[in-house]
Amino acid sequence: MGIIVQKFGGTSVADSEKILSAARKAVAAQEQGNQVVMVVSAMGKNTDMLVDLAQQINTRPPAREMDMLLSTGEQVSVALMAMAIHSLGAQAVSLTGAQIGIRTDSSHTRARIQSIPTDRMRQLLDENKIVIAAGFQGIDENFNITTLGRGGSDLTAVALAAVLKADACEIYTDVDGVYTTDPRILPDARKVSQISYDEMLELASLGAGVLHSRSVEFAKRYGVTIHVRHSFSEAPGSLVVAESESPTQAVGGAAVTKNESLVSIKDIPDQPGTSLTIFEKIANENITVDMIVQNIGLDGKANISFTVLDDDLAVTQDAVRKALDHLGSGQLECRQDVSKVSVVGLGMAQQTGVADHMFRTLAAAGVNIQMITTSEIKISVLVERERAEESLRLVHDAFSLQTAPPDAQTKDIGGSTESDIAEVASDLVGMEGLRVDDVLLDESQGRITISQIPDRPGVAAHVFENIAAENIFVDMIVQSDGSDGQASLSFTVPRNQLDAAFRVAESLLKDMDGAIATSSLEVAKLSIAGIGMRSHTGVAIRSFQSLAGEGINVEMVNTSEVRINLVIDGNAAEQGLQALSSAFADVLQKKATESNTP
Ligand code: ASP
Ligand code: MG
Repeated sequence: MGIIVQKFGGTSVADSEKILSAARKAVAAQEQGNQVVMVVSAMGKNTDMLVDLAQQINTRPPAREMDMLLSTGEQVSVALMAMAIHSLGAQAVSLTGAQIGIRTDSSHTRARIQSIPTDRMRQLLDENKIVIAAGFQGIDENFNITTLGRGGSDLTAVALAAVLKADACEIYTDVDGVYTTDPRILPDARKVSQISYDEMLELASLGAGVLHSRSVEFAKRYGVTIHVRHSFSEAPGSLVVAESESPTQAVGGAAVTKNESLVSIKDIPDQPGTSLTIFEKIANENITVDMIVQNIGLDGKANISFTVLDDDLAVTQDAVRKALDHLGSGQLECRQDVSKVSVVGLGMAQQTGVADHMFRTLAAAGVNIQMITTSEIKISVLVERERAEESLRLVHDAFSLQTAPPDAQTKDIGGSTESDIAEVASDLVGMEGLRVDDVLLDESQGRITISQIPDRPGVAAHVFENIAAENIFVDMIVQSDGSDGQASLSFTVPRNQLDAAFRVAESLLKDMDGAIATSSLEVAKLSIAGIGMRSHTGVAIRSFQSLAGEGINVEMVNTSEVRINLVIDGNAAEQGLQALSSAFADVLQKKATESNTP
């Protein structure tokens, strides 16, 4: 007995038959003694149709009016759903976002939820009514209708589950759960019994997820268990919770982003603030940059490579050209024949031998790795686009993702929403604001760099197999794009293993025509960890700005959904930590709690 939130996506309410079938699920849940809140999307492709209609009238429609228009799709669905419930002999009341009082900021077409009152919903539930909430919409302080971004009904469902402290948040969709990779690309993909928020966030942002990224961030923030399941089946689906499926498994999922473009900028001045100038220009265009690799050339000039989605390439090129004009030097090269293949897993943070296994798998098939970046829970490589799907399959096989791990676990669903309303209410930045949990300094690692590595398959595999053979734990890895023979490979290891790692690197140089190895004890790793690190734009920029402001050069960077890692000169460790802490003071949870206590 408790509150159940059931969300039905567009395909699950595409026609009257399907609406009735969804209504039966809700009535059944009520008959089992639950209070039921339904969240519904627009029918079928209705939202797309409305977008199209707007385009026919105005190719640049005002965002406010887009929201006014798009919110009608869900309004149709909730009314019909309420009628369906009544036809089954139960009672229901439909509510728009505004009628519930879902308050958002005013960024039309991608508004963020700030607060949700529960009184009206609770009263209706206590009167034994099924509450039918329109997904994807809210209202700002001036009573303007807002929408939460495409796919935002998932977010409405999770948010309602959080504020109502629901016992379950069921997302009904046209797939029966979360898969180890996109089953449309790889039929071998396996449905998982459960997946962690962080893994799901990485996969969702890689385009492999069935859930909206912000809904997963929201669920993580407020401890909502999400149950993804098929609309037309009774079978259990997949749970999205804090823990991964298997406590011992290194990799839980894999993904390919085919439409990545590689942007390489060579011969820019090696000074703090150079990359900032470039990234600021790109961020001003609202473009998210991925797989950032910078390296210091041997001649005092620096190179930067990163990836953006194909659709963003043209605008990115313009922005970079402007930045280069400003800097007075640098060459730009772009390639579109590349794709990103990633593996994700909470378990890899505790295990060695994950990266080299991935690299060896690709090398054995003759796939050249053009770029590498790793975070605590993700390894991404850039490969030739023509071999991207094959690479995904190889990697998926290599980590046996098609087979359920022997120690697979599934969390109990009942009573599992751990949301703390006090916390919800005191969250001054709004329920979806950027939240930084920690700014961390790690001075326990050193860095090895191998410059001028050859651009051919197997180099990274060779290096990391030999490192692993010495039982050296590798943390961050970055490899820059090697198309001009100037690629370099940097990685960090514990300081007490730096000498051993350097000896390994040196012993490998003879196989790497002309490569040069260097090592440095004097590096510091700074990390910013939290929620919304990538869904909020400008977080990486803010950290670059604060370091550049102190004249600190960033030697290695990695960004993920939950963390930004920056390796800097070890002599500037404390200064860098201070700079980052003050740059994020407004959203840093620790400080906020400290200043709240008298
Ligand atoms: N109807 C909206 C969309 O198509 C919201 C949703 O379905 O989640 O994006
Ligand atoms: Mg959806």
